[in-house]
This record gives sequence, structure tokens and C-alpha cells, in this order.
Amino acid sequence: MDLIIGSHVSFNKDTQMIGSIAEALSYKANTFMFYTGAPQNTTRCSIDKNLLDKAKELLKENNIDINNVVVHAPYIINLANNNNFDFNVNFLTQEIKRVELLGVKYLVLHPGSHVGLGVENGINNIINALNQVLDEDTNIVVCLETMAGKGTELGRTFEEIKQIIGGVKYQDKVAVCMDTCHIHDAGYDLNNFDNVLEQFNKIIGLDKLKVLHINDSKNIINSHKDRHENIGYGNIGFDNLINIIYHEKLKGIPKILETPYIEKKAPYLYEIEMIRNKKFNDNLINDVINYNND
Ligand code: FE
Ligand code: FE
Ligand code: ZN
Repeated sequence: MDLIIGSHVSFNKDTQMIGSIAEALSYKANTFMFYTGAPQNTTRCSIDKNLLDKAKELLKENNIDINNVVVHAPYIINLANNNNFDFNVNFLTQEIKRVELLGVKYLVLHPGSHVGLGVENGINNIINALNQVLDEDTNIVVCLETMAGKGTELGRTFEEIKQIIGGVKYQDKVAVCMDTCHIHDAGYDLNNFDNVLEQFNKIIGLDKLKVLHINDSKNIINSHKDRHENIGYGNIGFDNLINIIYHEKLKGIPKILETPYIEKKAPYLYEIEMIRNKKFNDNLINDVINYNND
């Protein structure tokens, strides 16, 4: 199977997924991830049926499988804390309906931060929330993201993710999104990725791994910082990321870049190019800055 690679793209109410697809194609991507509105708030527009039909045609024309497309839930949703718990559960229920309507399969969700409640209470809140949100008719998969462990973030170990999944009633509707920057910052050594995958398989099961976020990290292993870096420019390094992206056990899993913009310009066209070529571009910053300015 071909490499399935894309990046975070925008989504706005006027063009909806059509705009997202056009942006992904401009990066020569064959998948993409978007927030259905601003990531830092819960204001959402309704899905326009006309635009959606056109978007589905556009996907077909460009051989993009909608099963590889990913939606990211807004990161202010915190299921681990008691504050706004009902609001968050309600928002997530609505968001799942939007994702189902779009025909997208995967919704990536940060498990949440316990904010002083303690790990066990936080995890129990997440489990309760997921059990309120998911039912037997849910037609999408919530992918819990592995987190860097910044502050009181949960999901910083495979064991915590496993514990959450273990408490959910409809377990076929929960899976995992592995973020390379986050697991590196959480203390997993990506110089020995086979060992990391083996741990993942033992604790959670590789069949649960549905989405990969491919990011380099600005910080050293175990820093619990969560600051993404451009591919090959951080502490994980190009060779380790290529090893992960092309790992035979991760074939067919969508791989999504969330690396930082360079002087307000998206780096993804050039990052995807170097990933496809398996060759580090030490001129990435200039390539990105000069693009369109020729
Ligand atoms: Fe995320
Ligand atoms: Fe991520
Ligand atoms: Zn992150």
C-alpha cells in the first residue's frame, strides 16, 4: 500500500471540506486532518449538504479515501476535569454527529488534564464521559491521542491510554492516535522505535493504532513540553521519523504532519516532498519562505 501522508489543514464555513481538500492537494498530500472550527473554541457551523456532495466528488477525483481523513476535536474540551463536564460531553456528542455527517471515520481527541483531581479521578471522568458520548450506533472511532505529559495531561503513557480504553463500554469505537513529538517528550526513546511499538502492542495492541501524528520535537526526551518542530530539525531527527513513517507494521495508517509554520507559511509541501524522497532537505526554511515569492 502507498504511503498515506498529509497534514493539518484549515476548514472554514464558506468552503468547508472543499477548501480543506484543495489545501491538502496543494501540499501533494493524499490525506489531511482538520478542526471543524477554531481549535481553541467550540463555535461550529452546520455542515452544508451541497458543499459536502461536491467535496466527496473532489475526494474521488483525487483518489483520497475518506476513511484516511481525520478530524481533530478542539483542544479546550477537557473530559478529565469536573469543570464544564456536561458542556464538554454535550459538545463532543455534537462533534461526533458532525463527523458522522461528513462521512469521516476518525476523530482525534486529547484525553484531558486532571488539573489537580489526581490521575485516577481524571481517568474515571474521561471514561464516564466517553460512556455518555458513545453508543451502539456511533459510526466513528474516537482516537485518544498519546500526550507529552505537560502539566496534568493524561494519556502520557500507554498504560493510561489502556486504562481509559479498558473502562469504555463500546471498545470498538475507541482507538489511539500516536503523536511522535508527544511520546518522545513523554519519555519513549524513538531511537529504538521497534521497542516502543512492542510496548504499545503488549499494553494496548497494535490493532488499536489508527492515526499517527508525525512531528519532530523542539525538546529533549522526557521533557514533557509538547513543542513541535519541523521534520528533521528537532531532537527526534529525520532518520528516526523516516523509520517510523515507513515502518512495515504501520503500513496503511494515515500519517499527519502538525509541524510549525515557518514565517506564517505552511511547510507541508516541502516536508511531504522530503518524506517521499526519504532525503533530508537542509534548505527547508528557505524553500518555504521563498515559495510563491519567486
Ligand atoms: Fe492533538
Ligand atoms: Fe498531535
Ligand atoms: Zn502537540
